[in-house]
Amino acid sequence: MNKAEIAQFQKKLEIQRQEGMRFLKQIEEEARSLEVDAAQDPADQCVTSISRESLFEQSSQRRTSLRLIEAALRRTENGTFGECAGCGGEIPLRRLHALPWTQFCLRCQEAIEQEVDSRLTGGSFAVPLAPAWRRTG
Ligand SMILES: [Zn+2]
Repeated sequence: MNKAEIAQFQKKLEIQRQEGMRFLKQIEEEARSLEVDAAQDPADQCVTSISRESLFEQSSQRRTSLRLIEAALRRTENGTFGECAGCGGEIPLRRLHALPWTQFCLRCQEAIEQEVDSRLTGGSFAVPLAPAWRRTG
Protein backbone atom coordinates (compact mmCIF):
# COMPACT_ATOMS: atom_id res chain seq x y z
CA MET A 1 0.00 0.00 0.00
CA ASN A 2 1.40 3.41 -0.88
CA LYS A 3 1.63 6.44 1.36
CA ALA A 4 -1.33 8.24 -0.20
CA GLU A 5 -3.56 5.23 0.40
CA ILE A 6 -2.43 4.94 4.00
CA ALA A 7 -3.05 8.66 4.52
CA GLN A 8 -6.57 8.18 3.23
CA PHE A 9 -7.26 5.46 5.75
CA GLN A 10 -5.66 7.52 8.46
CA LYS A 11 -8.09 10.34 7.75
CA LYS A 12 -11.03 7.96 7.76
CA LEU A 13 -9.95 6.38 11.05
CA GLU A 14 -9.40 9.80 12.62
CA ILE A 15 -12.98 10.78 11.77
CA GLN A 16 -14.31 7.52 13.17
CA ARG A 17 -12.30 8.05 16.33
CA GLN A 18 -13.73 11.51 16.83
CA GLU A 19 -17.26 10.28 16.22
CA GLY A 20 -16.73 7.43 18.64
CA MET A 21 -15.48 9.77 21.35
CA ARG A 22 -18.35 12.17 20.82
CA PHE A 23 -20.85 9.33 21.13
CA LEU A 24 -19.13 8.03 24.25
CA LYS A 25 -19.36 11.45 25.85
CA GLN A 26 -23.06 11.60 25.03
CA ILE A 27 -23.67 8.22 26.64
CA GLU A 28 -21.77 9.23 29.74
CA GLU A 29 -23.74 12.44 30.07
CA GLU A 30 -26.96 10.50 29.70
CA ALA A 31 -25.85 8.05 32.38
CA ARG A 32 -25.05 10.95 34.71
CA SER A 33 -28.45 12.52 34.14
CA LEU A 34 -30.06 9.23 35.20
CA GLU A 35 -28.12 9.23 38.43
CA VAL A 36 -29.21 12.64 39.69
CA ASP A 37 -32.85 11.63 39.32
CA ALA A 38 -33.03 9.76 42.62
CA ALA A 39 -36.52 10.63 43.91
CA GLN A 40 -38.46 8.02 41.98
CA ASP A 41 -40.97 5.34 42.81
CA PRO A 42 -39.72 1.73 42.59
CA ALA A 43 -41.11 1.13 39.10
CA ASP A 44 -39.25 4.16 37.77
CA GLN A 45 -36.11 3.05 39.54
CA CYS A 46 -36.36 -0.24 37.68
CA VAL A 47 -36.60 1.54 34.37
CA THR A 48 -33.67 3.71 35.35
CA SER A 49 -31.51 0.74 36.23
CA ILE A 50 -32.40 -1.00 32.97
CA SER A 51 -31.57 2.03 30.86
CA ARG A 52 -28.40 2.53 32.84
CA GLU A 53 -27.45 -1.05 32.02
CA SER A 54 -28.10 -0.54 28.34
CA LEU A 55 -26.10 2.70 28.40
CA PHE A 56 -23.29 0.85 30.08
CA GLU A 57 -23.40 -1.83 27.43
CA GLN A 58 -23.38 0.76 24.65
CA SER A 59 -20.47 2.60 26.17
CA SER A 60 -18.39 -0.56 26.58
CA GLN A 61 -19.09 -1.49 22.96
CA ARG A 62 -17.98 1.98 21.91
CA ARG A 63 -14.86 1.73 24.02
CA THR A 64 -13.95 -1.55 22.34
CA SER A 65 -14.35 -0.12 18.86
CA LEU A 66 -12.42 3.01 19.85
CA ARG A 67 -9.56 0.80 20.99
CA LEU A 68 -9.60 -0.97 17.61
CA ILE A 69 -9.61 2.35 15.78
CA GLU A 70 -6.74 3.68 17.87
CA ALA A 71 -4.73 0.50 17.30
CA ALA A 72 -5.33 0.85 13.55
CA LEU A 73 -4.14 4.47 13.67
CA ARG A 74 -0.95 3.31 15.37
CA ARG A 75 -0.48 0.76 12.60
CA THR A 76 -0.76 3.51 9.98
CA GLU A 77 2.11 5.22 11.80
CA ASN A 78 4.43 2.25 12.23
CA GLY A 79 3.85 0.91 8.73
CA THR A 80 2.04 -2.31 9.53
CA PHE A 81 -1.38 -1.07 8.46
CA GLY A 82 -3.08 -3.49 6.08
CA GLU A 83 -1.13 -6.46 7.36
CA CYS A 84 -3.12 -9.33 8.82
CA ALA A 85 -2.26 -9.88 12.48
CA GLY A 86 -3.17 -13.54 12.11
CA CYS A 87 -1.30 -14.79 9.04
CA GLY A 88 0.86 -11.78 8.15
CA GLY A 89 -0.70 -11.58 4.70
CA GLU A 90 -2.14 -8.47 3.12
CA ILE A 91 -5.71 -7.55 4.00
CA PRO A 92 -7.55 -6.87 0.70
CA LEU A 93 -8.12 -3.16 0.08
CA ARG A 94 -11.82 -3.74 -0.43
CA ARG A 95 -12.09 -5.14 3.06
CA LEU A 96 -10.10 -2.26 4.53
CA HIS A 97 -12.38 0.25 2.85
CA ALA A 98 -15.36 -1.36 4.50
CA LEU A 99 -13.65 -1.92 7.88
CA PRO A 100 -10.57 0.32 8.16
CA TRP A 101 -9.94 -0.74 11.77
CA THR A 102 -9.84 -4.47 11.06
CA GLN A 103 -6.59 -6.24 11.81
CA PHE A 104 -7.43 -9.58 10.22
CA CYS A 105 -8.04 -10.83 6.71
CA LEU A 106 -11.38 -12.46 6.12
CA ARG A 107 -10.02 -15.97 6.50
CA CYS A 108 -8.43 -15.29 9.89
CA GLN A 109 -11.48 -13.34 11.05
CA GLU A 110 -13.73 -16.28 10.23
CA ALA A 111 -11.44 -18.69 12.00
CA ILE A 112 -11.55 -16.51 15.13
CA GLU A 113 -15.32 -16.15 15.00
CA GLN A 114 -15.76 -19.89 14.65
CA GLU A 115 -13.60 -20.42 17.70
CA VAL A 116 -15.61 -17.91 19.73
CA ASP A 117 -18.85 -19.52 18.54
CA SER A 118 -17.81 -22.97 19.62
CA ARG A 119 -16.72 -21.58 22.98
CA LEU A 120 -20.03 -19.79 23.47
CA THR A 121 -22.10 -22.84 22.59
CA GLY A 122 -19.81 -25.03 24.69
CA GLY A 123 -22.01 -24.46 27.74
CA SER A 124 -19.97 -22.45 30.22
CA PHE A 125 -21.44 -19.12 29.09
CA ALA A 126 -24.98 -20.38 28.57
CA VAL A 127 -26.30 -18.94 31.84
CA PRO A 128 -29.54 -17.05 31.24
CA LEU A 129 -29.41 -13.56 32.68
CA ALA A 130 -32.56 -13.17 34.74
CA PRO A 131 -33.35 -9.52 35.39
CA ALA A 132 -33.98 -8.67 39.02
CA TRP A 133 -37.53 -7.45 38.41
CA ARG A 134 -38.55 -10.82 37.06
CA ARG A 135 -37.31 -12.67 40.14
CA THR A 136 -39.12 -10.45 42.65
CA GLY A 137 -42.23 -10.52 40.41
ZN1 LIG B 1 -4.96 -13.55 7.87
